[in-house]
Amino acid sequence: MIEWVFVLSASRLFKVYINMKASCLCGLVQIEIKSPFISFSYCHCGQCRKSHGAGSVAYGTCLKSDVEWLSGKKKVRCFESSEKVKRGFCKECGSNLYYYNKDYPSHLDIPLAILDEASKIQPEYHIHVASKAEWYSINDDLPQHLFEH
Ligand SMILES: [Zn+2]
Ligand SMILES: [Zn+2]
Repeated sequence: MIEWVFVLSASRLFKVYINMKASCLCGLVQIEIKSPFISFSYCHCGQCRKSHGAGSVAYGTCLKSDVEWLSGKKKVRCFESSEKVKRGFCKECGSNLYYYNKDYPSHLDIPLAILDEASKIQPEYHIHVASKAEWYSINDDLPQHLFEH
């Protein structure tokens, strides 16, 4: 069941999802994201595209301390795609599980595609649009940042 709470921000009340469950393709790795995502983005950088085998990758950013490993933590391996970036994946099925950047040590970016339940969360902007694949077209009105935001 999808859980949510109401949050009051700038005198606006809105609904955010909490305790979101996510898992890899084989199901051995299961995590729970306790708190609402802090922000959402689509990344178009070449490294995310290659690592996920996708035209772009939708991420939710959360605090590392809000991620609870329910099972399979020992199955998680990580690939250092650059000096600063680590990408966690399931060693059995290859699903990408998180993106970690040393510049933001208390945060993790979780691919929205591994969430187990379809909630109405939606990315808020695009990043690294300068490296977008030629064959991929952005068909929304969200802000586009050429590099990072
Ligand atoms: Zn797996
Ligand atoms: Zn990226």
